[in-house]
Amino acid sequence: MEKVVIVGTGCAGLTAAIYTGRAQLSPLVLEGRQPGGQLTTTTAVENFPGFPEGVDGPDLIMRMHAQAEKFGARFQYGTLEEFEKGDRHHRLKVDGNWIETETLIIASGAAARWLDLPDEKKLIGHGLTSCATCDGAFYRDVPVCVIGGGDSACEEATFLTRFASVVYLIHRRDTLRASKIMADRALSNPKIKTLWNRKPAAYLTDDAGEMRGIVLEDTGTGAREELAVKCVFVAIGHTPNTAPFRGKLDMDENGYLIQHGGTKTNVAGVFAAGDVADHVYRQAITAAGQGCAAAIEAERYLAARE
Ligand code: NAP
Repeated sequence: MEKVVIVGTGCAGLTAAIYTGRAQLSPLVLEGRQPGGQLTTTTAVENFPGFPEGVDGPDLIMRMHAQAEKFGARFQYGTLEEFEKGDRHHRLKVDGNWIETETLIIASGAAARWLDLPDEKKLIGHGLTSCATCDGAFYRDVPVCVIGGGDSACEEATFLTRFASVVYLIHRRDTLRASKIMADRALSNPKIKTLWNRKPAAYLTDDAGEMRGIVLEDTGTGAREELAVKCVFVAIGHTPNTAPFRGKLDMDENGYLIQHGGTKTNVAGVFAAGDVADHVYRQAITAAGQGCAAAIEAERYLAARE
């Protein structure tokens, strides 16, 4: 029987691991399909307090991981398949094996969204990606495009100018959703060309099945045009990783877990922290803050039971 199981190793999960580890609860931390969470796919994090020069996203995560291990957190690779709530303890099926725990901190984050165009799944890794940090360097001196108008799209587009000959930033409206600083940085970069009021309608591939371009539709007139690019970077937001909890924990219409005061879910002993529950702030620092809160709430819950 575990005292604390933490699902996820992004900012929220690792902060919860540091706090519950330091509280001598020896947390078991499950690393899922994307260990380290979204920060592992970002470059410089400029707004995490304490790093005036900025900090590399993967580096920040590695430091948190080491800090959690130092306080006794145990890490296990595995995918959570099922969750069964109970009165005294809860059950988790991880890669076919059941784990029982008194408390559960869900910090499973959110996954990149795709456009749902034909052949999309087949093209991932063949000129279609959601991670400029991971794949940008493969596309040197060739045209690429980024889909989206938020901070992610602007950040990815700016990063890609290091490699690509030109970066088309394609947005379905005529104003960006991104914060002013990120938008200004992208819009003032001479290698970024913005295509407004256009939505992707199809991917174009060559004989080898590699990306050769994208068909864009004008959202006003419906007119279509082809744009030659070697890679499409999709940056249109995220979906919360809450599938194992569907029908068992309260969620909103988009699948985000609902917190009932602090990080408490509707089930006693189960807490939710970070992007899995937060669709408003979605920052590394707010996720870390929620991870801390969930750890303290789990600790108090266990103390009250004893
Ligand atoms: P987001 O803010 O939700 O923006 C998603 C963008 O994709 C929007 O511009 C949206 O268009 C567009 N979009 C959504 N569905 C689409 C579709 N089917 N086809 C075409 N376009 C579509 O997501 P995000 O940029 O990933 O940012 C998420 C959060 O992370 C935000 O809070 C952001 O501040 C934060 N973030 C921060 C940093 C940083 O500070 N370093 C970096 C990245 C992200 P509309 O605008 O028309 O809705």
